[in-house]
Amino acid sequence: MAKQGKLYVVGFGPGDFKHITARAVEALQESDFIIGYKTYVELIQDLITDETAVISTGMTEEVSRAQEAVRQAELGKTVAVISSGDSGVYGMAGLVYEVLIEKGWTEATGIPVEIIPGISAINSCGSLLGAPIMHDSCTISLSDHLTPWNLIAKRVEAAAMADFVIALYNPRSGRRTRQIVEAQNILLRYRSPETPVGLVKSAYRERQHIIITNLGEMLDHDIGMLTTVIIGNSSTFLYDNKMITPRGYQRKYTLNSEKQNLKPHQRLKEEAEPWAMDQTTGEQRIKSSVAVTASVKNIQKVETSKQERSKISSYDMAMEALKRVSGDRPKATHYVHQDFEEIFELAVSPGVANKKFTPDQMMTLAMVVGEKGTMEYTPNHQIVLKIPTSNPEIITTKLKIVGFLLSPIGDVLTLKACDFCDGEKMGGIPYAEEIQEKLGGLKLPKELQIGFNGCGMACYKAVTDDIGIIYRKGKFDLFLGAKPVGRTAHPGQPVAEGIEPDKIVEVITNIVREYKENAHPNERLFKYFKRVKQIQGFVYRDVAPKIMIEPAPCGD
Ligand code: SAH
Repeated sequence: MAKQGKLYVVGFGPGDFKHITARAVEALQESDFIIGYKTYVELIQDLITDETAVISTGMTEEVSRAQEAVRQAELGKTVAVISSGDSGVYGMAGLVYEVLIEKGWTEATGIPVEIIPGISAINSCGSLLGAPIMHDSCTISLSDHLTPWNLIAKRVEAAAMADFVIALYNPRSGRRTRQIVEAQNILLRYRSPETPVGLVKSAYRERQHIIITNLGEMLDHDIGMLTTVIIGNSSTFLYDNKMITPRGYQRKYTLNSEKQNLKPHQRLKEEAEPWAMDQTTGEQRIKSSVAVTASVKNIQKVETSKQERSKISSYDMAMEALKRVSGDRPKATHYVHQDFEEIFELAVSPGVANKKFTPDQMMTLAMVVGEKGTMEYTPNHQIVLKIPTSNPEIITTKLKIVGFLLSPIGDVLTLKACDFCDGEKMGGIPYAEEIQEKLGGLKLPKELQIGFNGCGMACYKAVTDDIGIIYRKGKFDLFLGAKPVGRTAHPGQPVAEGIEPDKIVEVITNIVREYKENAHPNERLFKYFKRVKQIQGFVYRDVAPKIMIEPAPCGD
């Protein structure tokens, strides 16, 4: 019986030997014939033996290449048809099957066929640019040689609209120059001109050339048949000349920065995913909270039914109009109209010294938190709000109108003041307010609380805060380095008495600035003070005798 032939369809990767799979090399070495476009055959020349017959054909002769391969295999030869990258991505695999099917081939009765996968340009070029793919992506070939341009344009538009990372193959040739221009126009309707774009020419080949640019400027660079154009999604960013697409979308807004990078331990929390299909709703989460009264529910109902009547409220429209009039350019994310909700986290209090809520404030709180959000009273004299929203500005405006003091949460500076005996000891209030104004919400290496008390009683316990300020007889006493929590908690050290009022804000500002600039990440003020022994001339004293206490993490 004659030797049975075999057909390999081999993707040999981007073009260098290190990125060909072991199975591809095996197949090439086993083959009697290697059939492919001549540039590709030249690329793998060193891998094949002299006896292997090589049939290299021109670019447009794909069909005859596939037919010849099938014919040789049917004659009993082992034949490899080669494609660069992956043979299943704008390669020869589909065509080989089409030729086989025409001849009535089936797996059971026909010659054996093995498709050997390779690294496609989206992967090889992506790796050279950093990590641009990462999220949902697609490949689109701009060649209208075998596909009508209308369909290609529709796909570019759909991908742009749905915020896919896009790898454009066959972006441009000597003859086809308009397609990439048209594609850029379509993309610019949905994405910011600043969207990062990578142009990789001849990845992992001798003439490799990499350019990082953006959607607005990409056509100022050389783009040809050997280039793959990778267009980032609305979250892709540049860092150290690398294109990076985050693994997920941001799920949090904070007050002082538009978006907050989630720390790894926050990423996996379900409540950080308000958009998920089977999320736990805020309502379920706050079910145990007894504070949701019937009247509050009624208010929420009014708000919801209003929203139902028209999805875009008049308030939204007014905000948008205001933005247009004041000439604020829409930010990059506005180009992609995915209106998904992210968690907005912030803390509210009635004021620095004021501890009394008004009914109006309570009603506004209930309204903005709604069915989906949560509010939590914390030891910092603040209520922390977590509200799924796509428009934090509306929430902050409503809260400010009723006189709430808004603060970001996280590793920031918080001022905790007493109520100054209901205003009777009001002499200190302006200083507390000035410090809040100047430093409140400042991002720091670790959270920092300033306790500010209006008299020597210090009944709001300023001495146990990171920085304690006590207003006494028209001057200020200062305490530094308390360890506010834990079983080894201790008060701060009295470092100064009788600081003059016109000096206090400056003294505090300098301490905070020094801590911000010099502390290690996560180093709380008491640790920093203990390490450096002196802050702004205030000297650390090792006073407390050491008592050994077994460490006990929260919850144990
Ligand atoms: N089967 C191949 C794609 C062939 S279509 C694959 O999976 O990669 C040809 C297009 O692929 C080129 O126009 C270019 O856009 C892209 N391409 C292939 N190899 C490349 C390489 N080494 N560097 C950059 N782009 C490449």
